[in-house]
Amino acid sequence: MAVSSIDDWLHEIVKERLHAASQKVTANREALVGLLSTATRPLTIPEIIEAKPTIAQSSAYRNLVVLEDAGLVHRIVTNDDFARYELAEDLTGHHHHLICTVCGSVQDVAAPEGLERAMRVATKSIARTTGFRAQHHRIDLVGICQACT
Ligand SMILES: [Zn+2]
Ligand SMILES: [Zn+2]
Ligand SMILES: [Zn+2]
Repeated sequence: MAVSSIDDWLHEIVKERLHAASQKVTANREALVGLLSTATRPLTIPEIIEAKPTIAQSSAYRNLVVLEDAGLVHRIVTNDDFARYELAEDLTGHHHHLICTVCGSVQDVAAPEGLERAMRVATKSIARTTGFRAQHHRIDLVGICQACT
């Protein structure tokens, strides 16, 4: 029996979404999803290579593009040279980001329920006035992290 690096439910979703995007399930793609599913924060490509030394940098980059296109991975762009990668929000749960403008680090953070409630009200009122049907929202707080202050 093949030993899978990721949970069965996640494996099924990876298969489904890659196939829907006309892409194959490969060991490297599964390994990348598996790594991101256990990470406690979004990871840069150098951090991904460090954790999975068997994956070449060019391969990691190419496969992350495929995984992003398939809707499995979300890329967070900050002001430094390194994009951060995490699993798509529908797989991990809704959250927001704290982005440091000094070191470029990105932390996941749950928004207070009051903010989520206010966003639901705002989304409805925006739909009434503009006809825009929002499916979700992204709010990132940009500033200086604890380590950099
Ligand atoms: Zn920082
Ligand atoms: Zn995140
Ligand atoms: Zn939110």
